[in-house]
Amino acid sequence: MERFKETAVVLSTLDYADADRLVTLFTRSHGKLTAFAVGARKSKRRFAGALQPFTLLRAQLVERRGDTFRLDAADVQETFHRIREDLPRIARALYCLELCRELVRDREPHPALFALLVEYLHLLDQRAAGPTSVIAFELGALAQAGLMPRFDQCALCGRPPGSEPRFDPDHGGAVCAGCCHRARGAIPVSAQLVRSMRAIQAGECLPLPAAERQKARELLNAFISHHLGRQLRSVAFMTQVGLD
Ligand SMILES: [Zn+2]
Repeated sequence: MERFKETAVVLSTLDYADADRLVTLFTRSHGKLTAFAVGARKSKRRFAGALQPFTLLRAQLVERRGDTFRLDAADVQETFHRIREDLPRIARALYCLELCRELVRDREPHPALFALLVEYLHLLDQRAAGPTSVIAFELGALAQAGLMPRFDQCALCGRPPGSEPRFDPDHGGAVCAGCCHRARGAIPVSAQLVRSMRAIQAGECLPLPAAERQKARELLNAFISHHLGRQLRSVAFMTQVGLD
């Protein structure tokens, strides 16, 4: 049995048996892992509200045989309580947690993605995350997971995407008009949106107009669904609360 301490964000929790809770954590150095919090639902004091989605904590973990972990204690570092006061912010935070959970495999370290998530939770908490911020987070998270969609060149021929591009989730990015016949099901997009997505990938804090954000949402949903084999559940929740 190995004991260690880790900084972690709570991705999700699930009640287990009579009194336990299964907690999926995104840890800074060990990546994603799921740990048993034994008796977590009986002793409220022991974890004192620490096991809520998107809480940042310092976790005391024990690695057990058979690839499982036990969570012995958790010191809250940041509750991000202002996120919890506002439904759109909750929806964005839950979406980003689900995206991280689905993009990374168990025990695969992703310290840069972890840092990106914590930074985004701080921005949401400080009310400094505008409507385009989720798109910027997604593009950053996809790049960290090795799945960056291409907007700088046609994904099929490598030439500039041109004035009548489409977006093809199967081939991983924008395709030019000359290659559209090879990209069945590709989504028509404006050349402006392709330029904007490139700018966001390059780190420009670009507020997109609402219509472009909606189109960007459509592209990213299609791209992420293509790679994961299903749509993220929290997409529906974002739509419910009126977010694109
Ligand atoms: Zn092409």
